[in-house]
Amino acid sequence: MNFRRIMVFAAHPDDELVMAPAMARMASLGVEVVIALMTDGCEGYPDPSLRDTIVELRRQEAAAADEVMGTRRISFGYPDMGLVNDKATFLRVLEAIRAERPDAIFTQGNVDNHRDHLTTHDLSLEAAWQAGQPVSTALGEPWRTPQVWYYKNMGARPPDLVWDVTGFAHVRQLTLATQVSQHVLFGRDRQSFLDEAESIKAANAPASQSFWVTGKTALREFPEV
Ligand SMILES: [Zn+2]
Repeated sequence: MNFRRIMVFAAHPDDELVMAPAMARMASLGVEVVIALMTDGCEGYPDPSLRDTIVELRRQEAAAADEVMGTRRISFGYPDMGLVNDKATFLRVLEAIRAERPDAIFTQGNVDNHRDHLTTHDLSLEAAWQAGQPVSTALGEPWRTPQVWYYKNMGARPPDLVWDVTGFAHVRQLTLATQVSQHVLFGRDRQSFLDEAESIKAANAPASQSFWVTGKTALREFPEV
């Protein structure tokens, strides 16, 4: 694994968990995995009684997921359904990329309905490029991220990379078990995720995760075959 540090952009707390097995495997290989979380998930309350506590609940659940995966998290804290691609937001994302200097960025694709997913796609992709340009240098030394990948929301497009995560597939269920406030939306309870994790781990079947290159990945030579 050549990555020293990667950044994984997620619109809402739990979007990134699709990539939980790959993040956990990378972390186990010594890669520093930094999740860049754009919103606070404030609209994700399945019951009106949770309206005032949902943000804190989801903060705790995200921290529990990080504990499981061995990841670290930057939370931008924009309101759920209120993420906008304006100059101030864009420059915060650019500044964060320059501060972290990732070897690769992973972000959401744009085959999607949710405004925050689409805005996260736009912000991360443009900031990944602009962070490497000699502009806005008060916000940090320019950093060109060599690789930018999609990890979800790609519709039917075939993946460009299928990465082995055998031995880590069950981590997804372990992280979903931590997202207690979302279990009504998932139609599942905590124990069912823990039980499923246990059986996936016991089976230890070959597992993989799919990734797609973006137009921001500079491929200057044929990849090794
Ligand atoms: Zn989302």
